[in-house]
Amino acid sequence: MTEEEDVVAIPLSALQHWAYCPRQCGLIHIEQAFDDNLHTLRGNALHARVDQPGLQTERGRRVERALPLWHDDLGLIGKADAVEFLPDGSPYPVEYKQGSRHKSAAIAACDDLQLAAQALCLEAMTGHAVPEGAIFYASSKRRRVVPVTDALRAQVADTRAAVAAQLALGRLPPPLTGELAAQRCKPCSLRDRCQPEAAKSAALAQLRRRLFDPDDET
Ligand code: SF4
Repeated sequence: MTEEEDVVAIPLSALQHWAYCPRQCGLIHIEQAFDDNLHTLRGNALHARVDQPGLQTERGRRVERALPLWHDDLGLIGKADAVEFLPDGSPYPVEYKQGSRHKSAAIAACDDLQLAAQALCLEAMTGHAVPEGAIFYASSKRRRVVPVTDALRAQVADTRAAVAAQLALGRLPPPLTGELAAQRCKPCSLRDRCQPEAAKSAALAQLRRRLFDPDDET
């Protein structure tokens, strides 16, 4: 890490955005763009419910909500939805996500990266090891335990470096292509902004299908 990067604190959410799509990360963190769609509105509503700063006790564990996080050496900053504290004082991060726990492995991996980054921050802040945390899925109301493996830890550092380099460049990465685009662009709230022509053609194609085939619900 260069001396200049040392002082740049990268938002934890940027790692998740980058893992999902580097261009989405650039649109949000370089161009400060954010458009809502159904997915983001559901996510916002969920976080409005859980992100009220506060302290409570659940299942015998102290729980801090909306806890600010940072890692000065790695250059990360952000917030945890909830951190449970075990009886020995070890923190256990819990990140809330909309949807069900049966997400595709590739999308779940983006969430895992964000959780691992929170774990590294908590280790640096408290001096306790954080070997695992959990993602709580609002639709299925189930947790998925995420072990904070060496591979995830390395991925946090690599992704942080990639995001910092892109932010320093101040240039948007290219759009996704192929299979990745097919999986990720449709639910992306920034699609209109990212690829206005493609979004317009898709909307026209949908309109045409509905006009000539009223049973078509695609
Ligand atoms: S529309 Fe696709 S390429 Fe563009 S920001 Fe969203 S996911 Fe990335």
